[in-house]
Amino acid sequence: MKLMIFILAALSLTVHAFANEHEGAAPVTIVIHGGAGALEPGRYTQEEEAAYKAKLREALNAGYAVLNDGDAAMDAVEAAIVIMEDSPYFNAGKGAVFTREGTNELDSSVMDGATLNAGAVAGVTRIKNPIKLARAVMENSVHVMFTGEGAEEFAKEQDVEFVEPEYFHTDRRWSEYENALARENESREGALPQHLKYGTVGAVALDMNGNLAAGTSTGGMTLKRYGRVGDVPIIGAGTFADNNSCAVSSTGWGEYFMRLTIARDICAQVEYKGVNIKEAANDVIHNRLENLGGNGGVIVLAPDGAYEMTFNSAGMFRGVKNADTEDVAIYKE
Ligand code: ASP
Repeated sequence: MKLMIFILAALSLTVHAFANEHEGAAPVTIVIHGGAGALEPGRYTQEEEAAYKAKLREALNAGYAVLNDGDAAMDAVEAAIVIMEDSPYFNAGKGAVFTREGTNELDSSVMDGATLNAGAVAGVTRIKNPIKLARAVMENSVHVMFTGEGAEEFAKEQDVEFVEPEYFHTDRRWSEYENALARENESREGALPQHLKYGTVGAVALDMNGNLAAGTSTGGMTLKRYGRVGDVPIIGAGTFADNNSCAVSSTGWGEYFMRLTIARDICAQVEYKGVNIKEAANDVIHNRLENLGGNGGVIVLAPDGAYEMTFNSAGMFRGVKNADTEDVAIYKE
């Protein structure tokens, strides 16, 4: 009996210590997107929808597990994005779209909200997980962005996996490329088709220490020209994180996101105007982006765990996980 009481007392002490340790900890949260675009209900079969959602959940769970272990927001962002990069469903890593020349050029960036450190790569063709290289740029170089061959030279000194360019070839993206090319030839020469599908991936996370991080990775836009760089590797456009305001990852028509420095604008509104992330994201997406003629969306996370998934396209692959919620969605609700 005495032994029993002793064990119970010890157990309760342990539970208490655990609770204390987590008392005052930030509400760990991860929010992800798998791209915004012309995603109307009925576009996918039920099986396809289920497969997309399962992949989003897998990415969320991977990121959330990292946060729950007490690890850094940046580790969670990387864990979630690697899963989406490795999946052929999304326009990043394995599922990257094709350039006009029929090649794959990948862009990626990360930002750490605690230090404002950032890293980015643009136009890489042989890096399996560009998000890892973007992080290596942030952590192991004095620079913020590398492009093309220079990025791959730097990558040789880093712990990142190289693949042959053919690794990025998927039949689905190839037929999208061929269709886009055919449709373009029917319309105005050189015009970027409006119907291009997006599918960039991104994640924002809040860890127990209250630190925010953001990351984004993409194959860009179908039929983009050789050397075209989009918003994704541009800090302040595709990615931004600052513990004083918010963390953002963007997806959509990159040229507009660059011109409006969407990610930074949302956080700047929060910081300077004192508005909440909902107001800031709505203004930037539904007023500024829309008025300029662009489309796409953002995921936004605040230091208190508040989050937004805002878009003006038909849909956005997206998901969130915290202590109370696990939710994934594709279409407008
Ligand atoms: N923003 C990306 C780009 O323009 C495309 C996307 O979000 O799907 O490269």
